[in-house]
Amino acid sequence: MVGVGGSSPLATTRILSKAGLIFRPVFISKRFTNYVNVIPRIIARSEHSISRSNIDKGVLDILYTLARSGYEAYLVGGGLRDMLLGLEPKDFDVVTNATPDQIKTVFRSRCRIIGRRFRLAHVHVGDKVIEVATFRAQSDERGDRLIDDQGMVRRDNIYGSRDEDVWRRDFTINALYYNIEDFSLVDYVGALDDLNAGLIRLIGDPALRYREDPVRMIRAVRFACKLGLALPKETAEPLPVLSHLLAETAPARLYEEVLKLFHGGQAACVFEKLREHGLLGGLFDQTEFCLQQFSSWSAIVIPAGLKQTDARIVSDKGVNPAFLFALMMWEALWTALECDEGSPVHIDEMLKMATTVLNEQSERTSIPRPVIQQVKEIWATQLPLITMQHKAERVLALPRFRAAFDFLALRALAVPSLQKDVAYWEQVQLEHPEWLLTALSNQGSQQMQSDIGEAHSEKRDASKRRRRYRHR
Ligand code: ATP
Ligand code: MG
Repeated sequence: MVGVGGSSPLATTRILSKAGLIFRPVFISKRFTNYVNVIPRIIARSEHSISRSNIDKGVLDILYTLARSGYEAYLVGGGLRDMLLGLEPKDFDVVTNATPDQIKTVFRSRCRIIGRRFRLAHVHVGDKVIEVATFRAQSDERGDRLIDDQGMVRRDNIYGSRDEDVWRRDFTINALYYNIEDFSLVDYVGALDDLNAGLIRLIGDPALRYREDPVRMIRAVRFACKLGLALPKETAEPLPVLSHLLAETAPARLYEEVLKLFHGGQAACVFEKLREHGLLGGLFDQTEFCLQQFSSWSAIVIPAGLKQTDARIVSDKGVNPAFLFALMMWEALWTALECDEGSPVHIDEMLKMATTVLNEQSERTSIPRPVIQQVKEIWATQLPLITMQHKAERVLALPRFRAAFDFLALRALAVPSLQKDVAYWEQVQLEHPEWLLTALSNQGSQQMQSDIGEAHSEKRDASKRRRRYRHR
């Protein structure tokens, strides 16, 4: 673990305290009315514990190269914050006064400029890509910024200085700078105070900052869970009121944020906090609707499923976005079908409704096509898991068998009658591990579709009044 001496948050507090870095209540007004004139607190290398030995070599190389080329260069953001909390940094962000084009000139073929809303440089070091941003400014009078009539920033490419950049950052704990010139920390906003106090505070007026970029609302929840920090009243209060703004955010961006929220190892906490602060409906409106119904399936199964996701991440097992969406949207599917979870339903009817429900979700969090396809496979395979037990080898060969089986086991938490089916498939897998291995070489959704179709025709109702698939 990288960190302040590889220590825990509590130990870090002690280290900072020893170093004289536990400050009294912040001396700078939290409203930051006269931004540019705020004088930052400089914490010299001898007074803090961020060591170059804990910083990725490639990142150091970028920082030094920028400095040698005559630019300012700082480490910022989550990597720095995580190190101060004694956590392993996920990534490192670099910020400089060089513009994206100047960064490109410095790093040439190692650099690509990306983004439209925010132009950024991606610099390649070995097999890693490091994000190098240019200081951004506050003023509305210069450059390329577009704010819509809701106050949301749609495009933002106005460059500035460090003194300006800091006020554009979301939370105080994300607004520290590590200066490669003298290895000092630069703190304008009482970031170290808030890290020590374990608080997530917006820089500036919370409601205004959430309106500018509603994703900050879910970032607050993510950091609260990831870092074990609290959301004080002023951070939390606007959340339920402004949750609806998430619907205005670009769906592709929200899809990425959903993966960060639920595949970061704290999905169960995130789910609970999104609900607590009225934010879940902004991301999964159909799921939130289901959760509000009496005796909701989702209320039992989603938290249990997310705990399993977290456990998989802890043990370094893969996690699949399709499983997440299958879990989140399953009850919505049955609500749309207007029947109880697991009622007899025709496969075609189920798949048609799955398309409707998932397309509606895609308007919030644009789900990539292959993921939609896999969600449908996990769902559709629930049927043969019940009705084709006499053809176990063929069912094991279905492309999403493992995920579908795990999903069935979760469903059984809310529907005890499924427990015998779970036990059956557990037994089959124990007795015939070779069937699963063979199945790996026999994948493809078309195969599954035809298998399910065959099962369906076997179970056709004698009267042929309406073909229905008995699900349980
Ligand atoms: P992590 O990488 O652990 O998810 P992070 O804080 O580094 O957390 P990034 O998305 O990598 O998050 O962003 C880097 C930095 O850019 C942040 O620490 C913050 O200072 C700033 N930032 C990111 N997103 C926003 C935003 N929506 N509004 C304002 N500042 C932001
Ligand atoms: Mg980061």
